[in-house]
Amino acid sequence: MVAKTILIVGGGVVGLCTAYYALRAGHRVIILERGGPDHDSCSLGNAGMIVPSHFAPLAAPGMVSYGLRAMWNPESPFYIRPRLSRELVDWGWKFIRSATPAKAAQTEPLLRDLSLASRQCFADLAREWGNDFGLVQKGSLMLCKTEHALRDEAALAERANRLGIPAHVLTAGQVARLEPNVAMDVVGAVYFPQDCHLIPQRFVAGLTRRLQAEGAQFFWHTEVRGWCIRGRRVECACTSDGELEADEYVIAGGAWAPQIARGLKVRLPMQAGKGYSITLAQPRQLPEMCAILVEARVAVTPMPLDGVLRFGGTMEITGLDESISPARVRGIVKAACAYYSAFSEEDFRDRPVWRGLRPVSPDGLPYVGRLRHYDNLSIAAGHAMLGLSLGPITGRLMAQVLSGARPEIDIGLLDPNRFG
Ligand SMILES: Cc1cc2nc3c(=O)[nH]c(=O)nc-3n(C[C@H](O)[C@H](O)[C@H](O)COP(=O)(O)OP(=O)(O)OC[C@H]3O[C@@H](n4cnc5c(N)ncnc54)[C@H](O)[C@@H]3O)c2cc1C
Repeated sequence: MVAKTILIVGGGVVGLCTAYYALRAGHRVIILERGGPDHDSCSLGNAGMIVPSHFAPLAAPGMVSYGLRAMWNPESPFYIRPRLSRELVDWGWKFIRSATPAKAAQTEPLLRDLSLASRQCFADLAREWGNDFGLVQKGSLMLCKTEHALRDEAALAERANRLGIPAHVLTAGQVARLEPNVAMDVVGAVYFPQDCHLIPQRFVAGLTRRLQAEGAQFFWHTEVRGWCIRGRRVECACTSDGELEADEYVIAGGAWAPQIARGLKVRLPMQAGKGYSITLAQPRQLPEMCAILVEARVAVTPMPLDGVLRFGGTMEITGLDESISPARVRGIVKAACAYYSAFSEEDFRDRPVWRGLRPVSPDGLPYVGRLRHYDNLSIAAGHAMLGLSLGPITGRLMAQVLSGARPEIDIGLLDPNRFG
């Protein structure tokens, strides 16, 4: 393998994991991040869940009708702001066309393989790094308040088992025995023993520290604004700091990837899916495992290393607008108190609300791989709700692509050229 200089745009979890595995493969690495060393990104305040249980793509059968119903409730976890935008209409149309049983059957085995491989990467990194990012491997609970939701989750559990992802349907009593320290008002749950969780800020900080220690070059406060192209080759990235040259370039700019790729010969349909999280510094009770409050679509993550409990949710398709909607945050708080009976809305008063923009592709799969019209330009973006989960395997696959090796998992379905 020839050692190359690889320039990566974006210092979120996907860009950093790409840098980490590329460095380990023997390449030199440059990371350009428009924020500073303490910048915020979607990779920091998320729910920190690593979820083989999420094998069904976001563009799944039933999502379109769910979205249309949820749109009209200001506290609901899902919203699309109607806008006169060609990109939004095009994205919506592609989403609808992808949300079919046939597409799901094609996608699910790949999401399973990616998740399980990434989970193994996290376990290996926890061993190597002394688990300084608080990896907890105890599984997750899909908590249901209604029999109807439990029936749907049980059907999903059956599909998971058929795919080789263990899932167990539990009664309320069995849930209480699994989580003895937390009072829950639920009718039952599905338990996914292979899911795990971690503290995302610690993981990102750990990656950054190790990359710096191992010689990666960070250019902070450096925004990529364009590209110098000659024929099939990118000659340099045009940045707020001048022109920067490398042998290979990777766009890992999350929800901003289409902006960064503007002017290039590629169509990357993508919408930002805004979500919020609130972290309780001194929670009344701390569950053992992470959970999804199914009807409310809220994720709950205990972070025992820091003694905190995080609640995260909502998917608002409102462009790159990063403002906070108090009504939707209220929806998260109400759900938390409805499922965990010891908690009250008072517990959340004055807690800061974090927001992040998920990069959402219309078919529920990320864009990972080389761009067809260039010899030295790749994309790693569009992981939607799975960017943390799939960060390490994306990094490892990208390192293989950049080294000219055959990727360990067939990434044909992730081809960034798939929409033209
Ligand atoms: C509420 C919430 C909960 C979530 N929970 C989970 C979870 O439990 N598990 C999970 O797997 N995922 C979860 N996610 C999704 C996950 O956070 C994202 O998929 C992931 O963080 C995306 O990472 P990224 O590196 O692609 O993008 P980002 O983290 O957004 O990083 C992109 C970076 O690119 C930089 N950038 C942008 N434009 C430029 C430019 N022109 N020049 C230079 N730099 C630029 C940005 O500043 C940013 O730092 C959650 C998301 C939300 C909102």
